Formats: sequence, C-alpha cells, structure tokens
Amino acid sequence: MALLIDTGLSDWIGDSEIAAKLRATAPDADIRTPETLGNPEDITMLALVNMQSDHPARLPNLELVQKLGAGVETIVSHPDLPTRIRVARLKPDAPAQGIAEWFLAYILRTQRHMAFHEAAQTRAEWSPREPIFTPDTVVGVLGLGHIGARTALMLRTIGFQVMGWSRTPKTIEGVTCLHGQDTLPQLLGQCDHVCAILPSTPQTVGLFDAKTLAMMKPGSQLLNAGRGDLIDEDALIAALDNGTPGHAVLDVTSQEPLPQDSPLWAHPAVTITPHISGWHLGDALSDVAENFRRLSSGAPLLHEVDREQGY
Ligand code: NDP
Repeated sequence: MALLIDTGLSDWIGDSEIAAKLRATAPDADIRTPETLGNPEDITMLALVNMQSDHPARLPNLELVQKLGAGVETIVSHPDLPTRIRVARLKPDAPAQGIAEWFLAYILRTQRHMAFHEAAQTRAEWSPREPIFTPDTVVGVLGLGHIGARTALMLRTIGFQVMGWSRTPKTIEGVTCLHGQDTLPQLLGQCDHVCAILPSTPQTVGLFDAKTLAMMKPGSQLLNAGRGDLIDEDALIAALDNGTPGHAVLDVTSQEPLPQDSPLWAHPAVTITPHISGWHLGDALSDVAENFRRLSSGAPLLHEVDREQGY
C-alpha cells in the first residue's frame, strides 16, 4: 500500500515538499511522488488538487482519492473513476478563517467607501462620506458548511444582520437560516451583500443566471469564493450594467486563470482576486497521513465525501 502525492499544480506547494511534511508525521508510511512512483500497482491512495484524466487508468489498485483542499467536483464527476473508489477532502480551519476574512474585507471595503476615499486621495480631495452602518446591513451567506457557517458567525459577531442558506435545515444562533431552492428569492431580496461559498454540483452550476441575479437588491454586492461556475458571467455583466447587483467580488471564475480578454477584468463594477481567499492549509496535511493510516486499517475516513451529493 502506498500513497502518491501528485497535486497537478505548479504554482502551489510542490509534491516533494508535501511528501516530506507527511513523512515527518508518518515516518513508516510508503509515500511517493511522480518522480519516485515505482510500480503504479502499489498505489492505493492518491492525494491531489487537480485530477488528471489518466489517473484512474494508471493506478489500477486505487482505493481513495484525497483532495488537498475542499472542492471535489472534478474528482466525483470524473468519467473514469469507478464508484467503488472513495473520495475524501480536507476541512482545515486556516482557509475557512481566511475565506471568512476575505468576505469581511470586501464587505467593509464597501461599507467604509474605501475605493472612493482612495480615489479622492489621489486628487488631494477631502470628501467625507457617511459609512454604511453595520447593524442596518443584511448579509446573506449561501452555503452553511465548514466555511459558510464560520463566515456567518464571524459576520454576526461583528454586528451584521446575517441570513444563511443551505440545502438541508440548519440552526446557527443569531443567524436567520433558510434552506432549499424555494427560499432563495426571499433571501436575495433582503441582502445588501451575498457571500457565496457553495460547492460546484449539478444543482449549483449556473444558479446565478439572469433570473436569479434579478432577484437581488438593486445596488447590492455579490461575493463569490466557492466556485466560478455558480455564476453565468455573461448574465452577471448584463446585470451589473443595470445596477442589480451593483458590484461583484470574484475570487473564483468559470475559467482560471481568468483569460486576459475577459470583460470581467475591466468592468468598473467587478473586483477580481486570483483564487487566494483560502490560501493556507494550516496543519491539515496531518489528516492526509491519518486517512492513509485509516485506509490501511479499515477505520472510518476523515471528511469522506458523499459522491452521490457531489460534496
Ligand atoms: P461544505 O461541504 O462543508 O459545505 C457546503 C455547503 O453548501 C453546505 O452547507 C451545503 O448544504 C450547501 N449546499 C450544497 N448544495 C447546495 C444546494 N443545492 N443548495 C443550497 N445549499 C447547498 O463545504 P465548505 O464550506 O468546506 O466549502 C464550500 C466550497 O467552497 C467548496 O466546495 C469549494 O468549492 C469552495 N472553496 C473555495 C476555496 C477558495 O480558495 N476560494 C477554498 C476552499 C473551498 P447542507 O449543509 O445542507 O449540506
């Protein structure tokens, strides 16, 4: 039984660096990288960020795919990944905190008119403008899972009125929790900021089309840190041109990196960050070593994904 680290990413932590960190917590484990692969038949667990199209064919004895992150859509929907192969993800605190901070930062940027004041400074212009009062502001959080629940709690603690939305019922103290597709219009019609932190599933892809965008409050702000395919980007640009919503802050886009000729880059009502809201993994790599141990011993896995639901 061996664990292969093959992230499929060149601009993040390297495979050998991850393997070295894992060996420090699991010195007896057989951990390999593409450079030290040896016999592919030994590999029972694969840890990655991006699934490569030929991974299932190359690794005939694969039992578990471990995502080094949260979003598993490209794994669970992989056409050649047999249903017997299990999928697990990570649920680290560090990116959940980071993403909650990212939402908060861009909400406060609007509340405190930061872009306006920075522009005024370039003209040496003293232009007081009343900040938007936090207790008067309603923020919606779409997705109340590991990251969304933390975001909702942080925003509530700071004093915003917070509404949350999920697939199944949830209770979070001080947060008005709604669930199910039918309740989305009710939430969108009330929120000054809508923070989306949903997985990409057949139910969420394209959820923000022209019809849904039109349900938002005029002048409100849509922030997305989940997956880019939540939003129909052509419909978003048309909606922003009409002022509903008034601004979009996107950490994720349908194509990443966002192509240079995308109209999103230059749109005055769009702010782009390059998928950086949840950068740090913290100490989550220890869960990868733990899952390798659990796979070997037959114990229940940490953070196993429901392949049917897709998250
Ligand atoms: P979780 O699986 O813990 O939570 C997902 C939430 O979305 C749950 O509350 C779930 O509802 C809700 N949900 C799923 N489908 C629907 C639906 N059809 N309608 C309404 N609600 C739905 O995931 P995380 O919070 O850990 O992460 C969410 C996503 O964020 C990840 O899948 C990933 O794509 C993205 N992400 C982005 C990062 C970045 O750097 N930008 C970093 C990390 C994650 P319920 O609770 O009822 O099941």
